[in-house]
Amino acid sequence: MVLSEVRCKTWFRKDFRFPDIYHYLVGKDGYDEDCLRSYKSLEGFRLFVDGHVEDLNYHDLSDDETGKKDGYCYFQFKVKPTERSKTEDGKDFYWGFIVLQYTGSIYSAYCACKGGADGACRHTAAALFDLEATIRRNDSETCTSVSCFWKLLLHCVALQFITKPPVQAVSEEELLDQITSADIDYEEIVEYAEVYSLKELADIFVAQNNFESLENPTYEHCSSFLEFLHHFEFATEVIFQKTLSQSTSNSEFWFSQRAGRIAASNFYKVCDMKETTNSKNTAKLLMNYCPLSEDSTPYQLSWGHEKEVAAIKEYLKKHRTKHRGLEVFRSGLIVDKQYPYLGASPDRIQVCKCCPKTLLEVKSIFSKRNLQPHVAEAHCLDVVAGKYYVKKETSWNYQMQGQLALARLEQCNLIIYTLKGILVTC
Ligand SMILES: [Zn+2]
Ligand SMILES: [Zn+2]
Repeated sequence: MVLSEVRCKTWFRKDFRFPDIYHYLVGKDGYDEDCLRSYKSLEGFRLFVDGHVEDLNYHDLSDDETGKKDGYCYFQFKVKPTERSKTEDGKDFYWGFIVLQYTGSIYSAYCACKGGADGACRHTAAALFDLEATIRRNDSETCTSVSCFWKLLLHCVALQFITKPPVQAVSEEELLDQITSADIDYEEIVEYAEVYSLKELADIFVAQNNFESLENPTYEHCSSFLEFLHHFEFATEVIFQKTLSQSTSNSEFWFSQRAGRIAASNFYKVCDMKETTNSKNTAKLLMNYCPLSEDSTPYQLSWGHEKEVAAIKEYLKKHRTKHRGLEVFRSGLIVDKQYPYLGASPDRIQVCKCCPKTLLEVKSIFSKRNLQPHVAEAHCLDVVAGKYYVKKETSWNYQMQGQLALARLEQCNLIIYTLKGILVTC
């Protein structure tokens, strides 16, 4: 890379050294004490020596207003791929970033390559070695000449201020309970994963592109943001597990992950938008700026949550004898790797020994609690030969279809609950 492109403030320069890289990498996938002792044979080090790190830009994340120097600094890097001239998805570079703490220790790192989500791929390592060498060199130069230091600032591409360092993270320990109790198809050890909300990614996107603000994005802005999202390997399992371990009603993480995603429960609203629909209101809804609609006071919502449990109990009572080993599990937020801006959180997942996994969606409407379920929701139901089906052009059908698509399943049962009983659709 061009060494002079890194701009480092004096308070920071002295604090990043090889031991910081060592402490960060040791124990991560593919790194142990031995290989770090002979770090010169590491792939990442080779990439650095061979000049694959093309770009390393700096931005100070410490608090500008108070001037406190206890913040973070953000480095964005670009690394040329090794043999082939393009990356896995056809780009000329892998891009990623490193976040350092004031102390010099590495807070987090990310690379857009396949193995980059754990922040320890060869591209990230190359960028770390490059950064270390750059800072070391800057130190020795600025010791003797102040003008050298100022020269370093010349080509700096200052990123805009990012309001918040990425902090959403979850340790394997936090997940362990969930992993053993849940129904899992395969096991994957997650040591430490960064989980960004779409809002944080939008901030990073705006900062990277030096946009003043994106209050009224153009079509091009939107499509390049989607393109930007596709660079990310979303930690969908972590999102699922962490949202599973927290109750949805009071989880900040759950809300931050839901904000900006089109949730299955809003699919109909979005698909049904017309020329005349106020898109700003729809966007506000998707951003969770107005989480409560007019007809759902907190009391009515909590009534719904409470009745969800009662409905599932009733359902199990009636269906236990029809299946072998019937069990139901809660679900976390399901995010699709391919369409990371979509999300679904089914009420329950049903597992038995005789049928494929099935989703359960519970509906209980406070204002209709005293009606028979088939009367209460007659406008959403078709009856064929005594069996109830959800009508196609309803928000519930769109929601269930969306949940099925994102969960990669094929069957979803709708349970309508009132104080008079439950109704299960086919
Ligand atoms: Zn990488
Ligand atoms: Zn069954």
